[in-house]
Amino acid sequence: MFGKILIANRGEIALRVQRACRELGIPTVAVHSTADSDAMHVRLSDESVCIGPPAARDSYLNMVAILSAAHVTGADAIHPGYGFLSENAAFAEMVEDHGLTFIGPSPEHIRMMGDKITARTAMAGLGVPLVPGSAGALADLDSAREVAASVGYPVLIKATAGGGGRGMKVAQSEAELEEAWRVARTEARAAFGNDEVYLEKYLDRPRHIELQVMADSFGNVVHFGERDCSLQRRHQKLLEEAGSPALSAAERDAIGATATAALAKLGYRNAGTLEFLYQDGQFAFIEMNTRLQVEHPVTEMVCHIDLVREQIRIAAGQPLGYTQADVRFAGHAIECRVNAEDPETFMPTPGRVQAFHAPGGLGVRVDSALYAGYVVPPYYDSLVAKLIVHAPTRPEAIARLRRALDEFAVLGIKTTLPLHQRIVEQPEFIAGDYTIHWLEKFVEREIAAAAK
Ligand code: ADP
Repeated sequence: MFGKILIANRGEIALRVQRACRELGIPTVAVHSTADSDAMHVRLSDESVCIGPPAARDSYLNMVAILSAAHVTGADAIHPGYGFLSENAAFAEMVEDHGLTFIGPSPEHIRMMGDKITARTAMAGLGVPLVPGSAGALADLDSAREVAASVGYPVLIKATAGGGGRGMKVAQSEAELEEAWRVARTEARAAFGNDEVYLEKYLDRPRHIELQVMADSFGNVVHFGERDCSLQRRHQKLLEEAGSPALSAAERDAIGATATAALAKLGYRNAGTLEFLYQDGQFAFIEMNTRLQVEHPVTEMVCHIDLVREQIRIAAGQPLGYTQADVRFAGHAIECRVNAEDPETFMPTPGRVQAFHAPGGLGVRVDSALYAGYVVPPYYDSLVAKLIVHAPTRPEAIARLRRALDEFAVLGIKTTLPLHQRIVEQPEFIAGDYTIHWLEKFVEREIAAAAK
């Protein structure tokens, strides 16, 4: 097992990883920017190292500074969390080249899945169903026209290097294709420094259903079931559930078997998530994330497993120690992402937290690095807390979520808590009857009603 782990992240996820390390008896090193000297992840770690100024590119994305911090503190492994360097193959390689362990998949698999075209090609070759679309990158607008005509409109132009819902544009008809092509490429160039794009059929009413997998270094692969992340705004998830209200146990088993067989063939290691669109009983792969996900707690609650602990054990060369038949699903879990954002305009709301009261009680979990007096800095992602509830059934989980949301108080800054309070009252949500487009339309309706 590792002697000391450096956590190359901040906020709630840095705390989340620290907690798993502490339970394993492994000391931790926090890294932080000058803007985060007072952050909870720094206060609660065994050691900390300042790695640069506020801008992420100079601190949390500064590979040399992070590796130096690992060397001076004597850490022998690095956990990247999510975001920042978690899907950076060059960083994973650098960590390994310096004789440390990167707690995650191999650089080769990070690279393969980081490019959505090589990911699609690899998955198709392994028998995983894809969303119909172009076989590879689109050379020019004419080839985009050809593929669009063959798969049928509407279509989606997507950046090969895409992430965070950026570099993605819909064309409803051929008349809109040129504009979508231009805008997606411009956005992709600005966001990722790479304007390569491909095309997929745009599904009109899918759910986003993803599968959590875990693989050790001995060829054992298991899945921990699905998460339904269909409640999104601008392709960004806001509320996630495990399991999906739309999926039967037999459907879960079937897609789980396909996915684990594919990853076993690939020789994949550590945690991963296969993301699918699900419509009319069919799964279609869209991408794979080679890291821990923001929404991993809902899986932990229904499977009674600590996914970060598993990641660390596997990276240390230990076998899974269980098979698919040992994985049990119990009850229902829901997570709300609490962002420091205005719940109507979604503008970020950095600033001082005057008071912070987290809900508690049976089946309630809050993953957050907030505290009263903390100043949310304007430089980073706006996620400041995750509220997770677990109960025997979905209706009970919803009742628990409502009461936990009512208890939750974050004063001084606006958050998305009031939006969640509205969502949990909606008949479509209560019925579990929603697609990836539902939340966007709901928000539009709410804003229109407020303007009247
Ligand atoms: P990113 O890496 O930017 O998150 P994804 O490929 O994971 O991009 O897609 C993000 C979201 O965009 C999906 O969850 C879904 O809501 C929507 N989306 C992606 N591809 C399609 C498609 N072919 N049809 C309809 N919606 C899509």
